[in-house]
Amino acid sequence: MEKYHIKPNAKVRLSDYDPNALGDFEGEKRECKKKFKQLCVQLGSLQKKLYAEHKHKILIVFQALDTGGKDGTIRAVFKKVNPQGVKVANFKVPTPIELDHDYLWRVHTKVPGKGEMVIFNRSHYEDVLVVRVHKLVPHEVWSKRYRHINEFEQILTEEGTTILKFFLHIDLEEQKKRFLERLEDPQKNWKFNPKDIEERKLWGKYKEAYEEMLCRTSTDWAPWFVVPANRNWIRNLIVASIIVNTLNKLDMHFPNLIENPEPYKAALESD
Ligand code: AMP
Ligand code: MG
Repeated sequence: MEKYHIKPNAKVRLSDYDPNALGDFEGEKRECKKKFKQLCVQLGSLQKKLYAEHKHKILIVFQALDTGGKDGTIRAVFKKVNPQGVKVANFKVPTPIELDHDYLWRVHTKVPGKGEMVIFNRSHYEDVLVVRVHKLVPHEVWSKRYRHINEFEQILTEEGTTILKFFLHIDLEEQKKRFLERLEDPQKNWKFNPKDIEERKLWGKYKEAYEEMLCRTSTDWAPWFVVPANRNWIRNLIVASIIVNTLNKLDMHFPNLIENPEPYKAALESD
């Protein structure tokens, strides 16, 4: 886990992170896929306990550039969880009503309650990424948001939320390949937006924005992980490992609310 973890205030240069890295998972692809399957099953069992215990709240944030694999990671990693108790929140271009409020307004309504796991597909971090790159608000407005976000996430964690944040790191070559696939595969075509080509040209600006975001908002209470994401199978394995590891540490238990079941059993026997 430590290999991918960004230490608070650490200066981040994304060029130091290889999107093709295999890390601790040098094994064969087949071996990795097997391990990943086991982790998905473990995540399913942990989520069952999370829901039953109704104590902890889990928030998992995914950020990435276009084609970075947010949708694919969510589909793969959470395939064994019970949809009752797990929600995905997507953050798109804000609506006029959302824009009339502060940028955390729409986010706060989506955070997990007790026993819930909520997955953010994009998040409040867009407000220091796309908003910064496209100058949608002035510097003096977005630059205060790192502090707001840290404090917002601190409130959530002090109120019982466990937060994990993943940046899925791909390179420009891989993005080109994935855009071409979207253009060529009729099943992927719907994901292509002509504006994506313009966004791609801003990769350098996004890189800067991501680097500052990672440095300033990886905190003791809400850590960022930079995941090498050019290869889906290694990306999925790393994300699943970090989530399972974190949930295991919560030491969750099925509650035993009925201390003495005998009278109830007797009542059922006699009806
Ligand atoms: P997609 O995830 O491909 O469906 O696209 C969603 C789009 O919404 C992306 O281009 C995001 O950058 C954009 N978006 C999300 N949040 C914001 C925001 N707060 N301000 C402006 N654009 C946003
Ligand atoms: Mg898109």
